Amino acid sequence: MMTSMNNTIFPTFNARFAQLGKDFSLPVYADPLPEPRLVDACPVLAATFGLEVQQQAHKDWLTQITAGAATHTGMYPVAALYAGHQFGHYVPQLGDGRALLLGDSHSTQGYREWQLKGAGVTPFSRRGDGRAVLRSSIREYLVSHAMQGLGIPTTQALSLVASDLPVYRETVETAACVCRIAPSFVRFGSFEVFYYRGQHHLLRELADYVIQHDYADCLTQPNPYAAWLAQVVERTAQLMAQWQSVGFMHGVMNTDNMSILGLTLDYGPFMFMETYQPDFICNHSDDQGRYAFNKQPDIGLWNCACLAQAVMPLLADEEADSLTIARDILDAYWPQYHRHYLQLMRAKLGLQQAKDDDALLIRNWLSLLAREQQDFTLAHRQLSRAQSSPFQSAEGQEWWQWYQYRLSSETQSAAERVQAMEAVNPLYVLRTWIAQLAIDAAQRGDFSLVAELRQLLAHPFTEQAGKESYAQPAPDWAKGLTLSCSS
Ligand code: AMP
Ligand code: MG
Repeated sequence: MMTSMNNTIFPTFNARFAQLGKDFSLPVYADPLPEPRLVDACPVLAATFGLEVQQQAHKDWLTQITAGAATHTGMYPVAALYAGHQFGHYVPQLGDGRALLLGDSHSTQGYREWQLKGAGVTPFSRRGDGRAVLRSSIREYLVSHAMQGLGIPTTQALSLVASDLPVYRETVETAACVCRIAPSFVRFGSFEVFYYRGQHHLLRELADYVIQHDYADCLTQPNPYAAWLAQVVERTAQLMAQWQSVGFMHGVMNTDNMSILGLTLDYGPFMFMETYQPDFICNHSDDQGRYAFNKQPDIGLWNCACLAQAVMPLLADEEADSLTIARDILDAYWPQYHRHYLQLMRAKLGLQQAKDDDALLIRNWLSLLAREQQDFTLAHRQLSRAQSSPFQSAEGQEWWQWYQYRLSSETQSAAERVQAMEAVNPLYVLRTWIAQLAIDAAQRGDFSLVAELRQLLAHPFTEQAGKESYAQPAPDWAKGLTLSCSS
């Protein structure tokens, strides 16, 4: 569906989430970024909406729309209400403090919501300024493409616009706005808010909306709400397994940052593991290490339990029955997580068959990586072509013998195994130092690296000529880079 303006074709929009009404979201006028410049737009994603970003008219339109400077037919910008558990504590009202849902549009992937991040204050901004800085916007834009390239469910990033508007964080920075795309931006916290307020009719209305649009297969189940919750839990377990398999750290796994669709959502102080340290904390503001790398799967379950608690009133008429249903669903989390994780890790080690002690082989591999302080991404990538033990220690040599013996029971040829392993062990991930290079250049007015990295990270498994340096661990200048919640 498209509309024509001056003979140019643009997507048209609906406002299905806004139509749920003012209990769920409030209308907002964007506060446009002054003199916006398009830093980058993804031609592949744009094309799914029929947009050709090479065309000047489309580029201008996209810049205006995604800077909050114009709306288009059918758009009805709103900020959504939600609550959430932040660092373990319930916060009764959060909401989109700087995100603006423009509406949904048809794409070749199906209906997709368009959301701006950083388009000014909303009724939920509390003391915030409603802005996002260029630094964090570049990180979110690039990591969205990196995750997509890795095949990990994520919100997508259509475009990034920047402005000279000053924004005050630890220092003065400048404003930017990412246009995010997803089938839905509903969060676990979107349900918690109605549960804790005792507004169970609104809880049901939101669940019905989500099921109808994104979990329609649950409608034919005897208990659609239970079927839906079970699917959300399984998607979350799978997402956690995927994060762990590539060394991705989210940094702020509050329930308001958990997508009801099992997407990676709300990128802040995220990081990809470099030197492997299982208890690494990527978020400088997380003093307790609640969201340390090796805690992520536990927190995934903790967050699912918060969601289950919030939707209990929908699961059955009697509380005791709801509790039984919720417990059974949550009990499936660990088996699902371990199944997905083992499957991913076996593939990373080039194991096609399943043997009983594979889990131990994998655990020992990871302990050795930690002990010998190896780079998580490169160690996996290089394993397929290694001719001798990648480890120095006697235990490492022993592990290598065991691994060789284990490989001998596989039927694949060595060449096939190399190919299969390289298809699941990325060469390029968005290392903090690489994002920092793009940020430094962009802050000097050079946006070319953003586009270059978007293209590189879209194909993380394929060696690309001239891009060798991006497969390297952090150089000395970048060793001390830290990340906080400030964005
Ligand atoms: P986050 O930790 O980024 O997920 O944000 C937590 C909450 O704070 C959400 O409700 C955000 O919308 C809100 N928030 C974060 N930064 C800002 C900002 N600069 N202005 C307004 N609200 C913000
Ligand atoms: Mg958030």
